[in-house]
Amino acid sequence: MRVPLIAANWKLNKTIGEASEFVLALAPKVKGAQGVEVVICPPYTAIAAVVQGAGGSAIAVGGQDCYSRANGAFTGEVSAAMLKDAGCRWVIVGHSERRQFFGDTDEVANAKLRAALAAGLRVIFCVGETLDERTKGDMDSVLRRQVLHGLKGVTDADLARMALAYEPVWAIGTGVTASPEQADEAQGFVRALVRAQFGETAAESLRIQYGGSVNRDNAADLLSRPEVDGALVGGASLEVESFAAIVAAGAAETARAAR
Ligand code: PEP
Repeated sequence: MRVPLIAANWKLNKTIGEASEFVLALAPKVKGAQGVEVVICPPYTAIAAVVQGAGGSAIAVGGQDCYSRANGAFTGEVSAAMLKDAGCRWVIVGHSERRQFFGDTDEVANAKLRAALAAGLRVIFCVGETLDERTKGDMDSVLRRQVLHGLKGVTDADLARMALAYEPVWAIGTGVTASPEQADEAQGFVRALVRAQFGETAAESLRIQYGGSVNRDNAADLLSRPEVDGALVGGASLEVESFAAIVAAGAAETARAAR
């Protein structure tokens, strides 16, 4: 059984004060949650505050991106080792907003992924098609390209420290969610790609999150699908109550599956 991984991607939101307040309010709400893993990915400036606020709880902290190089003349960038040093255990790599707005190609995402793994971070690696690609019937080839190029050079041991996030671009921040059937089907396809490359055992233990307008009302249904092993949550992770409800849905799914 795969333990659901519920991750908050705050994007360009929250000051240090707001981040501290959030994590102090969230920690007691998720304290008793069994069978679910929780990660918060704040903006860089608020990482230390969230690490401090999450201390003593099971909440882990992640970066939203990292650079592929360890150090040097790369103004504005943050390395994977710096994230680790700041207390992060995770980092998101290949998010569609990085691909769309900041020019991260499959090769760039792959270089960042390898740097993050080499620095000892766990990685949430994002893939997903645009609406245009889905409409044209190109979803499978886009996912195949993103998985094959994205995971180049990744070993079985690396994969065990990763999760994938299937995030259809048309569902991110739009309020339009992929139906649980669409998510399950696409994620089954992604798992098959991983199976072909890494084998059955690795594919079966890999967690694949769904991301794209997950909220407290649709989380349980999405998480109940066999291929959906968690959620990467943007908008609905900005508010304590809604994020705590999604974490609770993850815990409830584990309890349901164990019965
Ligand atoms: C995301 O940022 O990865 C995301 C899925 O955002 P939202 O939940 O707002 O669609």
